[in-house]
Parts: sequence; structure tokens; C-alpha cells
Amino acid sequence: MTSEKRILISPTDILSVGFECSHCGATYFVPVKRLDRNLPRECQNCQESFVTDAPVQNKEHSDLVVLRSFIKLFKDMQSRKFVSSVRFEIQDESPSAEQKPKDKP
Ligand SMILES: [Zn+2]
Repeated sequence: MTSEKRILISPTDILSVGFECSHCGATYFVPVKRLDRNLPRECQNCQESFVTDAPVQNKEHSDLVVLRSFIKLFKDMQSRKFVSSVRFEIQDESPSAEQKPKDKP
């Protein structure tokens, strides 16, 4: 018997967005309801930047613009009732998922 486990979440399952500092490892979670144009821009522990408005090579928008745009649309998505049920599939990182036998070539 072959079985497959998929982990699906709906947009309203997302409760907060986490920002992990690449310098000191401190993590901040901001509830989606509190996310607005004033995103956490720097780590409160070491002042390292989380997100910058600097140009990104070969990209039209800065990281800050992309994140703000995504969050604005995501919050809108959470408030809507779509005709179908929209689900996101996420990576299964549970210990049992890691013990899956590799696919044979
Ligand atoms: Zn930090």
C-alpha cells in the first residue's frame, strides 16, 4: 500500500509572520492583524536590518516593497471568501516525514 501525507493550510491558518535575525538569531513574530506598512525593519536585540529598501540586482522591486505588497494582498486574501477553498501545501518536516524511504530510481 502506498500512502501520501500532505499538509495543507488555508490563508486564515497563518496567524503571524516571523522575522529571524541573521546576525544574532533573535526571532520576532508579528500577528498578521498588526502587520501594516510599519514592518519591523531591524532587530530589537542587535539592530541588524531585517528588511531593506535597497535595490536588488535584476529585480524590479526592493525586498521591502515585495514584502509590503505581499502582506497587503495576503491580508486581503484572509478577509475573502473564494468560490473554492484555497489551500497552501507546506513542507512536512516532522520526524516521521524524514524517515520516508527514498524513491527508487
Ligand atoms: Zn539581531
